[in-house]
Amino acid sequence: MSNTTFSYDTIIIGGGQAGLSTGYYLQQQGRDFVILDASERIGDAWRKRWDSLRLFTPARYSGLPGMPFPAPAYVYPAKDEMADYLEAYAACFKLPVQRGIRVDRLSRQGDRFVVTAGDRRFESENVVVATGGYYCPRIPAFATKLNPDIMPLHSSEYQRPSQLQEGGVLVVGAGNSGAEIALELSRSHPVWLSGRHPGSEPTRAGSLVDRLVAPLIWFVFSKVMTVNTPIGRKAAAQLRGHGLPLARVKLADLQAAGVERIHARTVGVRDGLPLLEDGRILDVTNVIWCTGFRPDYGWIALPIFEDDGEPIHERGVVVTEPGLYFVGLFFQSAATSSLVGGVGRDQRTLPIRSLLARLL
Ligand code: FAD
Repeated sequence: MSNTTFSYDTIIIGGGQAGLSTGYYLQQQGRDFVILDASERIGDAWRKRWDSLRLFTPARYSGLPGMPFPAPAYVYPAKDEMADYLEAYAACFKLPVQRGIRVDRLSRQGDRFVVTAGDRRFESENVVVATGGYYCPRIPAFATKLNPDIMPLHSSEYQRPSQLQEGGVLVVGAGNSGAEIALELSRSHPVWLSGRHPGSEPTRAGSLVDRLVAPLIWFVFSKVMTVNTPIGRKAAAQLRGHGLPLARVKLADLQAAGVERIHARTVGVRDGLPLLEDGRILDVTNVIWCTGFRPDYGWIALPIFEDDGEPIHERGVVVTEPGLYFVGLFFQSAATSSLVGGVGRDQRTLPIRSLLARLL
């Protein structure tokens, strides 16, 4: 370990949209902070997603505080455009991002936090964890029993149809990722899409009606579906694990494209092949797990977690560890908390106010 310890008032861990927007507020106040990020280039979380991905939120709702997304309000940005926007955002506000630094331990010594990354050591009074909720693939344990000549991929590894073998594809998980990937693959492969339907947004993305009702939907998601309202708490419980309603792909699109939509879940493996809960076995050569992500906070050596690994917090403030904050968590304060257009708004509320109050 190097002998040098770098000291800051605040360390932000993670330099995606959540970390950068936190940095924006601290920069506006002239605070002393650094953003540590594991990736080589700002925006890499977006760059690494599949080639054809476009955001499901239009440009109007895909901007961070202080800098709207540079596109007409109802254009759906491509994922690389989003990555470039984040890079431009960090440059525009001169945010102090140190790249290629993966934090491997966060602990406390007395009233200071100690952050280590390999042989580097940092200390601060405050830490903001902004490492994102879409990092560690969640794949069912039975996946390892699949026949070895079936190609398995998690949605985070899927890039394009040519990665797959010839033959049928089972897409497991019918949320936004599953539906979009199934639709794309249906042009080159027979596709089965298994899993519960998470519901669909009521309008067709990009249509005139959609543009008219989008502000209302955004209002409901950001101001009504919050942790402070009974309807918000109910929605949070339902959406956790099931994802948001389908934004762009409709069930009719899947049907028209020839995707076989199976509402039964994939529950195991029989004779090396995927087994559905209705007893069917699918003879496919590819399985794509669109089964979401799980938190991975194994590097945080502080007693702040529920049994399921989720941090215990009040709208991002960890009450039991003064000076520790989370940003960008799923439903941290509202249904939009982990979305680009929601994460900045979230911070104007509790975490950033609490953090700035500590820095006074
Ligand atoms: P990330 O973008 O994941 O950034 C986290 C950063 O932390 C990364 O740069 C990573 O390198 C770094 N990091 C992680 N661990 C460490 C560590 N230990 N030390 C240092 N650095 C670390 N939202 C929308 O609003 N609109 C959309 O259209 C949309 N589409 C999505 C499509 C997909 C397929 C997915 C998965 C999500 C989508 N989201 C969308 C949700 C969300 O906006 C994105 O996941 C977004 O990338 C989350 O931003 P973040 O800053 O919280 O996390």
